[in-house]
Amino acid sequence: MRNVVIIGSGCAGNTAALYTARANLLPLVVSGKEAGGQLSLTTLVENFPGFPEGINGPDLVANMRKQAENFGAQYLDGEVLDTDFSVRPFRINVEGEWIETRTVIIASGASARWLGLESEQKLIGHGVSSCATCDGFFYRNKSIMVVGGGDSAMEEANFLTRFGREVSLVHRRAEFRASKIMLNRAQHNPKIKFLLNTVVEEVYGVAHQMVSGVRLRNLKTDAVWDQEVDGFFVAIGHIPNTKVFKGQIETDPDGYILSKGGARTNITGIFHAGDVQDRVYRQAITAAGAGCMAAIEAERYLESEGH
Ligand code: NAP
Repeated sequence: MRNVVIIGSGCAGNTAALYTARANLLPLVVSGKEAGGQLSLTTLVENFPGFPEGINGPDLVANMRKQAENFGAQYLDGEVLDTDFSVRPFRINVEGEWIETRTVIIASGASARWLGLESEQKLIGHGVSSCATCDGFFYRNKSIMVVGGGDSAMEEANFLTRFGREVSLVHRRAEFRASKIMLNRAQHNPKIKFLLNTVVEEVYGVAHQMVSGVRLRNLKTDAVWDQEVDGFFVAIGHIPNTKVFKGQIETDPDGYILSKGGARTNITGIFHAGDVQDRVYRQAITAAGAGCMAAIEAERYLESEGH
């Protein structure tokens, strides 16, 4: 029987692990399908306080884990397949094995959103990617396209200019969600070409299992044209990872956990931390802060229950 099981090993999960470990609660962290969370898919992180020169995302998250492990946090590689929160202790199924725990911290984050085109789905891993850091290297001197108008799209487009011959940034509107500084950087990058008010209707290459181009449509003029593309990167936001909690943990219509104040969910003893609940701030530092909050609440709850 565990005191605390933390679901997810990104900034939120690792920070919750550090705090609960230091409270002698011997937390178990289930690392999840995308271990390390979104930071493990980024390059330089310049806005995490304490690193004046910035730090690589994967290094930052690996350091967090090491720090938590130094205080006794245990990590279990695997995915949560099922949960039963109707009983006490709570039950969590990791890769077929049920684990019992007095408290749960849900820090399962959010995963990449896709356009949803059949051709896009068929070509994931064959030229279609949601992770420039992971796959940019394959497109040296090739033609790259990035879809999206937020910070992720700007960051990926900028990063991909290190590899690609050219980078086209496709966005469905002419206004951006991206912060001014990130947008500015992309706009001043001579290798990035903006295609605004434009959507991707089809990704070509399914027959050969390799992206060869796309069909685009300008939503203002209705013009339709084809463009050759080798690497197709989708950066249009994320979907919270709450499927396994459906019907048990209350969420909003998009699947983000509804907070009941602090780090509390609708079930006493189950807490939320990070992007799985946060659709507003979604930063590494806010996720880490949320992990700390959830840990403190779990600790106080256990204490109040006499553990
Ligand atoms: P986001 O801010 O939600 O932006 C998503 C973009 O994708 C929007 O421009 C949206 O268009 C577009 N989009 C969504 N669905 C689409 C669809 N089906 N077809 C075409 N376009 C679609 O997501 P994000 O860029 O991933 O950023 C998430 C959060 O992380 C933000 O808070 C951001 O600031 C932060 N972030 C920070 C950094 C950094 O500071 N280094 C880097 C990355 C992300 P519309 O605008 O038309 O809705």
